[in-house]
Amino acid sequence: MSKLIIVSNRLPVSASKVSGRVKFKKSVGGLATGLGSFYKNYESVWVGWPGVASERLKGQRNEVSEELAKENCVPVFLSQKDVEQYYYGFSNKTLWPLFHYFTEYVVYDKTFWHAYENVNREFLKTILKIAEKGDTIWVHDYQLLLLPAMIREKMPDVSIGFFLHIPFPSFEIFRTLPWRDEILDGMLGADLIGFHTYDYATYFLDSVRRLRGFENTLGRINIKDRIIKVDAFPMGIDYEKFSSASKDPSVQKSVKYIKRIVGDRKIILSVDRLDYTKGILQRLKSFDKFLDTYPQYRGKVVMILVAVPSRTHVERYAQLKREVDEAVGNINGKYGAIDWIPVWYMYRSLPFNRLAGLYVASDVAPITPLRDGMNLIAKEFIATKTDGKGVLILSEMAGAAKELDGAIIINPNNEEEIVKALKEALEMPVKEQIERNRMMQRRLSRYTVVKWAEDFMKMLKEVKDMQKNYLSKQITEEVEREIVQKFNESKEKLLLLDYDGTLIPFASKPGYAKPDRGLIRLLKTLSEKATVVIASGRDRYTLSDWFGKLNVGLVAEHGVWIKDAGDTWRQIAPLDNKWKEEIRPILEFYTDRTPGSFIEEKDYSLVWHYRNVQKELAMTRVGEIKSVLTNIAMNLGIEILDGNKVIEFKNIGVNKGSAAMHWIRRKNWDFILAGGDDVTDEDLFEVLPKDAYSIKVRRGVSKARFDVDSYKKFRSILKKIAEGKAG
Ligand code: UDP
Repeated sequence: MSKLIIVSNRLPVSASKVSGRVKFKKSVGGLATGLGSFYKNYESVWVGWPGVASERLKGQRNEVSEELAKENCVPVFLSQKDVEQYYYGFSNKTLWPLFHYFTEYVVYDKTFWHAYENVNREFLKTILKIAEKGDTIWVHDYQLLLLPAMIREKMPDVSIGFFLHIPFPSFEIFRTLPWRDEILDGMLGADLIGFHTYDYATYFLDSVRRLRGFENTLGRINIKDRIIKVDAFPMGIDYEKFSSASKDPSVQKSVKYIKRIVGDRKIILSVDRLDYTKGILQRLKSFDKFLDTYPQYRGKVVMILVAVPSRTHVERYAQLKREVDEAVGNINGKYGAIDWIPVWYMYRSLPFNRLAGLYVASDVAPITPLRDGMNLIAKEFIATKTDGKGVLILSEMAGAAKELDGAIIINPNNEEEIVKALKEALEMPVKEQIERNRMMQRRLSRYTVVKWAEDFMKMLKEVKDMQKNYLSKQITEEVEREIVQKFNESKEKLLLLDYDGTLIPFASKPGYAKPDRGLIRLLKTLSEKATVVIASGRDRYTLSDWFGKLNVGLVAEHGVWIKDAGDTWRQIAPLDNKWKEEIRPILEFYTDRTPGSFIEEKDYSLVWHYRNVQKELAMTRVGEIKSVLTNIAMNLGIEILDGNKVIEFKNIGVNKGSAAMHWIRRKNWDFILAGGDDVTDEDLFEVLPKDAYSIKVRRGVSKARFDVDSYKKFRSILKKIAEGKAG
């Protein structure tokens, strides 16, 4: 049976060393719950760091491995130095602040980077020991961005999923990273790359396009012979656990205790890991301002502030702790009275029953991160509100804001807005609270963490199946013989042939690539035995000039013009040309700034050529042109096609496929063969009947049934057909 291998920085079971002995503690995090359902269908193994530096485990490694094996966990042992440089260093001093837009906190340190590479490789070594053909590997989060490609290199066919639990930043932020290309290539080793929101997925695709030059269609990237899918999967929570919390006796006890102490004061709850991304200081400042602006609330509300210790080894975090301590002290000193403390402050992690008790007992939860991949606390707070009462104030910078639109959504940098939101929340009619919460609860109960994990795994399987279907197969001698034999036996035969790159090598300069005499002879012989159509992107004048004397059909400008042998050129459908006036000036603007580029104007299309542009610059310009023109083109009914070193603009629906139909529909063909080498030929392959022979020149993701590695090979097959001999 195939296995599921889950890989994350930390294992769901952590080891710790207490007075010389190793102790184990299970974490009950969302990820473990979400993946729990797969344990039944797969044999599952979890790979990760157990939480203790290897120096502290001298002679106890085997014991740790054996103990973890009972929980299906496999440890990756890391030294103290690894942890310092890979985890506290590159992961949390470089990637974390950068991906959360705190560029001023980012540390660029080569030593950290090398440690990050090395530790990712350590994870690889462990995985290679247990992974087998047919397994599925699901890698998690920003500590392991290089791992997917490392696994892919060693196990090309294995199924790899990757999920990023933090935001992916916009291009302008991401590009500042010195190791940006390596990071993107690392992630692109996966078959499926998941993010919490569409925004993050879009930012990733944007960086992939601009930095690596890989285009995407609806989140699908084709790289060589692989298809990679990028999509959004907003992580949910264990809804059942939180929605039934208010019935749990230990939670009820906790609620009772809180209520007894707070009395009839309203509770404003603030819970986060102590992290600068969470906006804790800004929240405290807003609370201060709130008490200042609305003195009638003094003595009537308390803020319970839970700050969970986190990354205390990193100076930024230690500094934040000092600042939060001070801010809490200031508010309590400023407004506190003998019988009232405005902020109740806890610097620790709470167990489930106490945390859920706080959720249930609280009236308002201002969750105001400056940036947050998702924020599960917001979802958990809503889920516990079984009676529907309670108000969530949520930052628009949290991934969760995309789903929790019943919350009061605020900009966490706008102090006045938070102050206003606190007042609005405290005064919101109960009926409105219930309405808003019920709506959000319906969504949370449907899209749980289990559903999230299932959706991801389902899509991963689909991508893998798609890869198998789309990957054309190298043509064999047996198939070649079959083609020739079928051709000889058939009466009605049709050959649909692309020109550049298929019948002739792709020219480095336009205007070149004239057909050689051998090719003309070959086409002549073929046209005596079958209906031959040359379907090209070139203009009709060139095609008439080159092939006008032959008895062949022609398609020019990727389907704009068609011509039967011996007939004149005509259009399949009347086309409009006005859009050119809008697109041309923009292309001219870029051409002026891009040495080596030029615009080719055909009757019904515009082509921007960049084959002679310096590679880096070409990649940047292609990204810019597409960013600027995508929306304009869509509004004009124009399609943007990525050809070989060209971008082509033309009317939607006009393509080689629709042009080929003109011949395909005409007869009941016994034999059809089509050949092509680039994206424009995919339209042709798509319209062919199932039993047609479609051949792509160059291996890659394609709708064609077969592939050959060069135009020479393709021509040799045509020659065999022409001679009627398979050998
Ligand atoms: N949590 C907890 N005890 C606490 C505070 C928080 O167990 O005292 C849990 C909480 O239930 C939630 C998680 O910590 O599931 C925090 O996740 P979130 O996505 O909100 O923030 P992150 O820490 O991942 O940035």
